[in-house]
Amino acid sequence: MIDLDQHRVKPGDRPNLSEIPARQDAGLDSKADGEALLASNVERIDELQGRLWAEGRRSILLVLQGMDTSGKDGTIRKVFTGVNPAAFEIHQFGVPGPHEIAQDYLWRAHARVPRRGRIGIFNRSHYEDVLVARVAKLVEKSVWKRRYDHINDFERMLHDEGTSVVKCFLHISREEQFERLNARIDDPRKNWKLSPSDFTARADWPEYREAYEDMLARCSTKQAPWYVVPADRKWVRNVIVSQLILDTLEKIDPKYPKGVEDLEALRTFARDHRDANG
Ligand code: ADP
Repeated sequence: MIDLDQHRVKPGDRPNLSEIPARQDAGLDSKADGEALLASNVERIDELQGRLWAEGRRSILLVLQGMDTSGKDGTIRKVFTGVNPAAFEIHQFGVPGPHEIAQDYLWRAHARVPRRGRIGIFNRSHYEDVLVARVAKLVEKSVWKRRYDHINDFERMLHDEGTSVVKCFLHISREEQFERLNARIDDPRKNWKLSPSDFTARADWPEYREAYEDMLARCSTKQAPWYVVPADRKWVRNVIVSQLILDTLEKIDPKYPKGVEDLEALRTFARDHRDANG
C-alpha cells in the first residue's frame, strides 16, 4: 500500500526539498510489485471515471509541475492509459501567447478547468506564474508575491463548485536530470524534446528549488493539497500518482444517475420488439 499522507504537504509546512530523497521505493518491495499495483489502479480508475462521467456533476483537476525531464508527459501516459478519452482533457501551459498575455494570468487556466464529469490534467499550470515568472524575473517581486493568495482563492472556488484539485510536484534530483538531458542529446529520437531553456532552468536550480518550496508552503491547502512525488524512479512516480487519482475518485464516490423510472415496461418493450423481429 502507498501511504499518500507521507507525500502530502500539510498546510503551513514548508518542505525542504534538498532533504527529501527523490529516489525512493514508496514502501513497495520491488518494481514488479509497483507495476502490478499500477495495473490494478489503472483498471479501477477506468471504472470510477465511468461513474464520474455518467454522474456528470463533478470533476477532477490534476496539476503536474516539475523541472524539465521530471516526467510529466510519461506520468500522464502511464496513469491514464485506461481512461475513456471522451471524458478526459489534457492542457499544456507554455509561454503565454499574445492573446493570453492580454489577460490576467489566471484567465487561461480558468478557461481550461475540466468540465463536469471529466478528469482534466494541467501539464504545467498557473503555477508557472510563481515559478518561471519569478526566477526569470518576468515580473517584479511585488507582483508574484501577491499571486499565492490569488491562486488559493481560485482553487478554493473550484473546490466549492465541484472540482477536486490535486497537485503533484514531480521531484527529481539534479543528477537524475543530468542523466535524462544527456539521454535526450544522445538519442536521435529524443532530440526534439530538447530546448535551450532546459539548460538555463537547470543553471538556476537553487532559485527554482526556492520557488518550488515557497509554492508548496504557500499553496498546499486542505481543499487543494500539494504532493511531493519522488520521481527519480519512474515506476514509483507512476504508482503514487495513480494511487492519488484513485483515492480522489473513491472519496468523490460518483454515482450512476438513476435510470428510467419504469425498467419493467422497457424490458417488455424490448422483448416484444425482439419477438416481432424474429
Ligand atoms: P514542456 O517543457 O512542458 O514539455 P515546452 O518545451 O513547450 O513544454 O515548455 C514550456 C515552456 O513554457 C517552459 O519553459 C515554461 O517555463 C514556459 N512557460 C509556461 N508558462 C509560462 C508563463 N506563464 N510565463 C512564461 N513562461 C512560461
